[in-house]
Amino acid sequence: MANTKDMDELKNKLTPEQYRVICEQGTELPFTGKWLKEKGTGMYVCAACGTELFSSETKYDSGSGWPSFWDAAGKNIELRSDTSLGMTRTEVICKKCGSHLGHLFDDGPKPTGKRYCVNSCAMRFIPRDQM
Ligand code: FE
Repeated sequence: MANTKDMDELKNKLTPEQYRVICEQGTELPFTGKWLKEKGTGMYVCAACGTELFSSETKYDSGSGWPSFWDAAGKNIELRSDTSLGMTRTEVICKKCGSHLGHLFDDGPKPTGKRYCVNSCAMRFIPRDQM
């Protein structure tokens, strides 16, 4: 996260599970997330700062147990190498606030071949008619 003050503010705003995922690079259990089966049209935004992250247009069922997208909605995603847990992965972060969102893999569908594997609790879903 950006700095300690931001983290203190977030701690009051987020659930303990959200804090563990977003601020401590945690991962929610597969097949438990709120948005896994969401099929509505709209935008997934950062749970911490509200920045638009992923469109429902790019959401697909990867079978992984986490909401999956084959592209990001704009340029609001930052990627960072993550070598924790003995693996080399690409961490997906909210560019605006630094929240941990999930990881990026190269086994996604066309046209990008990318799979943004994102924790439900790191996002809020805004249906199109509420945007
Ligand atoms: Fe954010």
